[in-house]
Amino acid sequence: MPNKHFCQGPTCHERTTSDRFLKSRGVIRGRYAYCDMDQQNWYSDSDKYFCSQSCKMSWLSVNMENIEHGRPIEFIRHRRESGGYEKTTEEHEGWGGRTYTRSEIKRVDNRTEID
Ligand SMILES: [Zn+2]
Repeated sequence: MPNKHFCQGPTCHERTTSDRFLKSRGVIRGRYAYCDMDQQNWYSDSDKYFCSQSCKMSWLSVNMENIEHGRPIEFIRHRRESGGYEKTTEEHEGWGGRTYTRSEIKRVDNRTEID
């Protein structure tokens, strides 16, 4: 297990990117943060807590109101998952008779978050 926090992004474990998708179980998993916990002199210490700028920004929009009102914010210490996804690959014909494939990760049932 890497010496990293899990990404604190509120919806990190719901974004359908192929690096988050675990095919064997059909789940989307949250990422690790971008930087090691003990990494020094990095551009921004907040990169120890988030995998990407978009996760950082969505954490801010979800949690600023909690900070304003002094409400505690849960620190995420386990890998979050959301279930019920499947990768589909479609073939279609393009110009000059060449075949292209397009893959998409889709939610296939109504199960709620495993978390
Ligand atoms: Zn993230």
